[in-house]
Amino acid sequence: MLGNIFLTLSYTNGGIFMETGCIFCSIAQEKTATELLYKNHNLVVFKDIKPHAPVHLLIVPKQHIRSINDLTADDLPLVSELIVAAKNMAIEVGVKETGYKLLFNVERGGGQMVFHLHLHLIGGWIR
Ligand SMILES: [Zn+2]
Repeated sequence: MLGNIFLTLSYTNGGIFMETGCIFCSIAQEKTATELLYKNHNLVVFKDIKPHAPVHLLIVPKQHIRSINDLTADDLPLVSELIVAAKNMAIEVGVKETGYKLLFNVERGGGQMVFHLHLHLIGGWIR
């Protein structure tokens, strides 16, 4: 489902830089049936469709940024917001005390499957 459906054509839509055909842009703009666990002006949170753990959430900026490689100094507030949102979600889903991982996969070799920046929140194991 999440194949390579990316086009290079981009445009602005309501101030949000969007890449045509990007599944995470569509989810962030609520153009799909994906249930959002949290949303605010800058980001959305939803469950990974192929979870690697009992809890596996994706924290996704509304702004289309391809990967960590494309971040600039201007994106620092956004990246901070992603991390704080992840921490808040960890509390929300009950893994704050048991622990969790926060992970950015970067480009194909780093395991990135969707080329729209996203932070994985992974946890819920019993250890
Ligand atoms: Zn996108």
